[in-house]
Amino acid sequence: MMGDCIFCKIIAKEVPAKIVLEDDDLIVFPDINPSADTHLLIVPKEHIGSIRDLESAHAGLLVKVYQTANGMVDEYNLKEGPYRVVVNGGKAQHIPHLHFHLLGGQWRKQV
Ligand code: AMP
Ligand code: ZN
Repeated sequence: MMGDCIFCKIIAKEVPAKIVLEDDDLIVFPDINPSADTHLLIVPKEHIGSIRDLESAHAGLLVKVYQTANGMVDEYNLKEGPYRVVVNGGKAQHIPHLHFHLLGGQWRKQV
């Protein structure tokens, strides 16, 4: 837990979010400012700053993130339409806690 991290605060339930899935390793909630019809954030509970901070020990976690994305694609009926899983980095990343955007349906703006 990083004290000033908004996603750590959501994970700790100190900041509210409409959590759609949670387990020991990750949490999923809708993006507050959606870039597409469906815009979910898949967030590992461990405070990993960005993909540059990934280590071999995170391999299983990464598979789980993508399996979770697959589950959400099924649950939100995104399979027949366009969908993407996006990770921002550098100046495109605004929250320094690793997260995966799942975007489905009509694209509204750049994520
Ligand atoms: P990024 O620019 O890749 O770091 O993405 C951060 C995303 O987090 C943006 O799409 C924001 O709209 C979203 N966001 C910021 N604060 C919250 C929040 N409290 N609840 C849900 N989504 C948030
Ligand atoms: Zn964090």
